Amino acid sequence: MSQTATAILSDRINNMQESATIKMAKMSRELKAQGQDIIDLSLGEPDFDTPQHIKDAAKKAIDEGYTKYTPVPGYLELRKAIVEKFKRENNLTYTTDQIVVSTGAKQSIANVVLSLINPGDEVLLPAPYWVSYAAIAELAEGKCVEIPTTIDSNFKVTAELLAQHITSKTKLIIFSSPCNPTGSVYSQAELQSLADVVKKHPGLYVLCDEIYEYINYTGTAHTSLASFPEVFEQVITVNGFSKGFAMTGWRLGYIGAPLWIAKACDKMQGQFTSGTCSIAQKAGEAALMTDITPSLKMVEAFKKRRDTVYELLSNIPGLKVNLPEGAFYFFFDVSAYFGKVYNGKTLNTPEDISLYLLAEAKVAMVSGESFGDKYCLRMSYATSEEKLIAACERISKAFAQLS
Ligand code: PMP
Ligand code: GLU
Repeated sequence: MSQTATAILSDRINNMQESATIKMAKMSRELKAQGQDIIDLSLGEPDFDTPQHIKDAAKKAIDEGYTKYTPVPGYLELRKAIVEKFKRENNLTYTTDQIVVSTGAKQSIANVVLSLINPGDEVLLPAPYWVSYAAIAELAEGKCVEIPTTIDSNFKVTAELLAQHITSKTKLIIFSSPCNPTGSVYSQAELQSLADVVKKHPGLYVLCDEIYEYINYTGTAHTSLASFPEVFEQVITVNGFSKGFAMTGWRLGYIGAPLWIAKACDKMQGQFTSGTCSIAQKAGEAALMTDITPSLKMVEAFKKRRDTVYELLSNIPGLKVNLPEGAFYFFFDVSAYFGKVYNGKTLNTPEDISLYLLAEAKVAMVSGESFGDKYCLRMSYATSEEKLIAACERISKAFAQLS
């Protein structure tokens, strides 16, 4: 970017961090286009195609003329299907006017944060956290306060830690379970203990991001934080279609929220997007109204890949790896390799290691810094087992060269 452009552009955009996940995916796409044999494990995107019955519903929607602006918060039929889904799967009772459908869960999160946060309000982020939480909170001029966790506690925040970080300025907590980037899943008892803290602070809200809800290997049903009645009025539940239904490109996410928050988000997107794509909404309705066997098959495949990668990564000397219970990421500690030298340069950070692995192993992963972590790399295993095995072999060789 030229000096002039930076000078002309707003502070808002100049101060914004580029999304690290998207940046790495872009870099690896460019290297591939140059003919390099890159295995891209950067982006969290299911490699499966959207199930056929969902695609058919979209084609039908076009033929039936669902091609106009929709109500800003989404078609009533879709919101009804979401209300039923929340009741059926999450034991949550929302009305259709408490649902706002948006252009991806990413926009749902932006709507909520921009609606709630004033300059200087504190936003608590159990770290590691998904990259866009911090960027969006900063865009709203909120002050991000990280709650650090470690791999030894499976990167989970406890009630005590949460309580210690709440001040009179804390307005919002944002977290995901199953978690991107760590794959950790909070149990019902752990969520109950967090709810006990939250209910003591009536001015505090929680954005609970449940987009990986289906991708859960614990064998126990997913628990929504909002299902604890004592915090229902303080929780915004975010979900979407990208992960569970392999619908990343359709750009479809939603919230269930207290009515006044849902109304604020509706107003916000009335100015930003006028609501999301009519055809994607009809596809989403079909996804929720049909049985989720195709999604469960994908989850089975993810679990198998998780087990394979866990074994391979655990065998690489120096790496500290935990067994993720959900989502499709490994977040492993590479700090044993800090201080090693490559091409005359000392590798001191996860970013240095990720660039080393991109250059030497031709494997793209995202470094921990932008997730609020100083020791780890994130590997997405939402790709074929064959590629994952090849990637682990290459990573193993590249680390061996540093020893
Ligand atoms: N939340 C989390 C934790 C994510 O990993 C993602 C990535 N897709 C999103 C929200 C946004 O999803 P989308 O906008 O594709 O619905
Ligand atoms: N959520 C995915 C990830 O973390 C997709 C990229 C993005 O939206 O940031 O990789």
